[in-house]
Parts: sequence; C-alpha cells; structure tokens
Amino acid sequence: MTIRTFAIIVCLLSLSVSPAIAGDETTPYKQGAGITIDHEPFIRQTFDLAISSGKHGNHTFGALLVHQGKVVLTAENTVNTDANCTHHAETNLVSKAKRELSAGVIRESTLYASTEPCSLCCAAMYYVGFKRVVYGVSSKGLAKLTGWHDEGLSCNEFYRYKGGQIDWIGPVLEEEGVKVFRYMPKKN
Ligand SMILES: [Zn+2]
Repeated sequence: MTIRTFAIIVCLLSLSVSPAIAGDETTPYKQGAGITIDHEPFIRQTFDLAISSGKHGNHTFGALLVHQGKVVLTAENTVNTDANCTHHAETNLVSKAKRELSAGVIRESTLYASTEPCSLCCAAMYYVGFKRVVYGVSSKGLAKLTGWHDEGLSCNEFYRYKGGQIDWIGPVLEEEGVKVFRYMPKKN
C-alpha cells in the first residue's frame, strides 16, 4: 500500500466518524428574520472556494474569515494534494489565522464554512479562540449526499465540555450549497 493510498483510507475513515452533529443549540438561519448581518454573500464565497477545491483535486469544502465586515482570510480543503487528512478547509484557515492574526482579531471574527465543520475542525477552532461560526450545508445534508455519518460531539458540546461557548449558526443557503458536491473528485 502506498503512502497516498493509506492517507486516503485514513481520511475517509476520519470523515465517516468525525462530522459534528447539528445539536439543538444550533441557531437556525432565516433571511430577514431580525438578522442584522447578511451571511449569504460570505456563504456564497465559501461555495466558490469549495468548487475551486474540487477542481484542484480535493474535497469540495471552503472556508473564510470575516472581520469587521471584510474577508481577511480564505482557505480550501487540501487533503488530497497534501496527502494529509487533517487539512480540511477550516483547519487550514485556523492555521493561517493563528500565524497571521492577533488573538483579539480572531476572537472578533466570524468563520464561514461551506459545510458544517466536523469535530476535528471544532477542536482546532476552540484552541485558537474562535467564537462564531456560520455554515452553509448541514452535517445532515452532507450525510444524505455522501454517506458520511454524523457522529461524535457537536461543536457546542465540545466547547461546553472545555468550559467555552460558541455561536453556531446555520444552515445558510443549503439547497445552493449541496450543488458544490458535483465537483467532488471521483477518487477521494
Ligand atoms: Zn473538518
């Protein structure tokens, strides 16, 4: 077995068990219902990043960071091109943020993800100090399309277990978001 084949198998196993459950504490998103921030343009940008990721041969997920209404960082999934199943769009974004931004900016920022982040990404977000996430496609929507099941702790549960708190908002534009999975590479 080659290293690449091994990495792909580990990655698929990780994905089959790691996506976070959309717990009861997820804040449902409804456009215009007292929402002061328009999340939709940012979520659409994460879908574009997810499509770009698929075109580069990686899983179709994208993420970006918004601070004071402006996109300050973007990231794609790179699990295949890096042969590393931990290189999700969100973990790549969190790593960039840790390198390039202050703790204060991270705390004030909102992480947007094309799909509800998994447990691995939740842990990374917690340890780097993120406080707010908005996602496009739900874990349930992802499971329906790909068979990657919802198991493990939700992000809310994980944060609470660690004594923290996170705003968890979604799904946003889910019907539009599931279309990005057409760009998923044939061999994952
Ligand atoms: Zn993840």
